[in-house]
Amino acid sequence: EIPDVTLTELVLGTARESGDKIALVDGTTGDSLTYAELVEAAEAGAAGLHRAGVRPGDVVALMSHNQPAYAIALHAVIAAGATVTPINPVLTHREVTGQLTAAGAKVLIAANTVADKAVEVAAAAGVTRVFLLGGDDVSGAPSFETLLAEGGPAPDPDLDPATAVAVLPFSSGTTGTSKGVRLTHRNLVANLLQTRAGWPIGPDDVQAAVLPFFHIYGFTIILNSGLLGGATVVTLPRFEVGGYLAALARYRVTRAYFAPPMLLALARAPEIDELDLSSLRYVLCGAAPMDVEVTERLEKRLGCLIRQGYGMTEASPGTHQVFDAEFPATPTGSVGRLSPNTEARLVRPGTDTDVPPGEPGELLIRGPQVMAGYLGNPRATAETITDGWLHTGDMVRVDDDGLFWVVDRIKELIKYKGYQVAPAELESVLLTHPAVTDAAVVGVPHAEGGEAPRAYVVTTGPVDEGELMMFVAERVAPYKKVREVRFVDEIPKSPTGKILRRVLRDGA
Ligand code: ATP
Ligand code: MG
Repeated sequence: EIPDVTLTELVLGTARESGDKIALVDGTTGDSLTYAELVEAAEAGAAGLHRAGVRPGDVVALMSHNQPAYAIALHAVIAAGATVTPINPVLTHREVTGQLTAAGAKVLIAANTVADKAVEVAAAAGVTRVFLLGGDDVSGAPSFETLLAEGGPAPDPDLDPATAVAVLPFSSGTTGTSKGVRLTHRNLVANLLQTRAGWPIGPDDVQAAVLPFFHIYGFTIILNSGLLGGATVVTLPRFEVGGYLAALARYRVTRAYFAPPMLLALARAPEIDELDLSSLRYVLCGAAPMDVEVTERLEKRLGCLIRQGYGMTEASPGTHQVFDAEFPATPTGSVGRLSPNTEARLVRPGTDTDVPPGEPGELLIRGPQVMAGYLGNPRATAETITDGWLHTGDMVRVDDDGLFWVVDRIKELIKYKGYQVAPAELESVLLTHPAVTDAAVVGVPHAEGGEAPRAYVVTTGPVDEGELMMFVAERVAPYKKVREVRFVDEIPKSPTGKILRRVLRDGA
């Protein structure tokens, strides 16, 4: 079923057919790149990397904010037969050095804006070559563009798509330290085609890409959906409400990808009413639980449906989809149905026993998109994948219509007197309070209940702890009551909007 091709053959092969269509636009400067230019540059980059000593199986790190040249570098590395490991450019020197060392990276391609950091970490991590994206040679390192200028025939690596690792992304580290995830060409080709089955991006689509490319969700936008369908991808380096909305209007964006904090910010943005956003047809929101009330408010303001995407780094990343045809009919809180070629089971967490129909259980996934394994950690791999089944760590239920709903992460469920309380549910309730602009709930030790929910809230209006606890108590079963409230200026989140509960807990 899944074609025996490399990612390069599939993506650049398709890209070539789109010729003079605009592949990528820099949403900040307006500079753009056609598909033909992208393919040519990626092949020249692959040849340049080969001359620089990069061979199949080598690891090349890519550390940059979102920009069109990201796509060139990415495809160049993969076309050279090497593995690309994306790095968040705002990580500290120590963190970047750690990722480079763990990945065994030989070459680092970095944005000009982090040139100094790139040169320093390369020395510390034993990386032999640094190339800079974005023009000039600075900090003693040559630009990636010099590699392209020399041209030369692209290498033709002999890769087995089933075993060659194309991308080595790191998981978000929400529940601990982030893990390197080995995704093969076949994993990514499979997920690309799975995504395409339900979400047929076409040449008339314009997609906004503000979620960071270094995370698998943003990565998917640049790789999976945008470039395979002949659509145009508008890259934005960071999320800022005014600039983001202006780009949606200016480039007549048809499909956008959100993470939950974007929903919160956009739901309150006055700019929406002044702009023509009529081009927007579909919005996906994923990476963390999405609040239904906030989503519905924003849908009305945008005049466009917003549905949930679900996935994880280990699944390349998609396992479920709200198919285009079912977009309007699918309830806002559901993550839709299984992707093609994908099987699911729901089990009692930590066991191999399936739960009775209708009951929530830990989601196990089997399919061609399931990773080859974690980097350098066979033990974690063996614990996470058994008989081909990937243990997601997420509590999920299926309704009578066969639609899937994510309850929350199993690790984050709060056990009050043996009852399970999902932080996401309480966060949603808190967000409906007019004075609450953001909320996070964590389990803390509790004398009577063993563990009980503590809320952290960001508020605008005057409101006190008693009022908020009462507000929640009136809306949920007694065992779910919030038993403590802390007022904070901000909820700590990952770059894709996942609440960093361990940071809240450590901060006490
Ligand atoms: P780590 O595994 O390093 O602790 P992480 O699990 O956050 O971090 P990712 O692979 O980026 O790393 O995220 C996948 C997880 O994100 C899923 O397992 C799930 O818990 C959560 N997630 C993704 N989409 C959704 C969604 N629509 N609703 C709820 N949770 C989601
Ligand atoms: Mg995870």
